[in-house]
Amino acid sequence: MIDLQNVTKHYRLSGDVLVKAVEDANFKVADGEFVLIVGRSGSGKTTLLSLIGGLTKPTSGKVAVDEIDIWTLRDSQQSKFRAEKIGFVFQIPSLIPTMTVMDNVRLPTMFAQRKENVGERALKLLELVGLSQKTDAYPAQLSVGQQKRVALARALINNPKILLADEPTSDLDKATELEIMNLMQQIHADGPRTIVMVTHNLDLAKYGTQVHRMANGILEKVGMDSLRSSDF
Ligand code: ADP
Ligand code: MG
Repeated sequence: MIDLQNVTKHYRLSGDVLVKAVEDANFKVADGEFVLIVGRSGSGKTTLLSLIGGLTKPTSGKVAVDEIDIWTLRDSQQSKFRAEKIGFVFQIPSLIPTMTVMDNVRLPTMFAQRKENVGERALKLLELVGLSQKTDAYPAQLSVGQQKRVALARALINNPKILLADEPTSDLDKATELEIMNLMQQIHADGPRTIVMVTHNLDLAKYGTQVHRMANGILEKVGMDSLRSSDF
């Protein structure tokens, strides 16, 4: 269960400029949902995901995952909590360029307890994302779509209960976008797993078990019908 209560994130820029990236968000997600959050660029989507994943500390309000507020944990417990509970697919491809695909996928196991059969699990995940032939390749030898699929496999290596995906289909052609969304659906079906995915692409709302809209830092749950393309 993800539970955000009155969560606000403000960034203070030089001078006295205040950016209200997320404003008073109340967001509860039960286990097993596939939540789609749709919003324009700059609306606060990445900030919201970092708040859920415990990568950004809220300015005010409370973030809890399975009733644990990560900001009440000691440093060493925080990284373990993140590594074991949450898989994160970052918006910007963030593979380590000097490491092979296989080693990139294995990397997050360094911070987690479960270290048995890591190679086997990594290979299974690379099979899932259709890249078992590329274990020894380096990120630069892959297309952007393939890099995103490696990032997905990496996010799943610790078998996290929650997968947070930041625009996993951006910068892709339509066919590759469809491939990634099919993969996201399969990952959800193979669960039990909760997925929160953010996107600026209204067309992807239909993949969610529920949809929220993010606009100017304000998050609200919406019906599929009330999302209009004029909002984007
Ligand atoms: P989105 O992912 O929807 O594009 P972001 O969460 O990245 O939105 O950004 C929301 C707002 O917060 C934007 O105005 C952005 O410029 C600002 N912002 C994001 N990260 C920072 C940061 N580290 N420092 C200052 N401002 C930031
Ligand atoms: Mg973003």
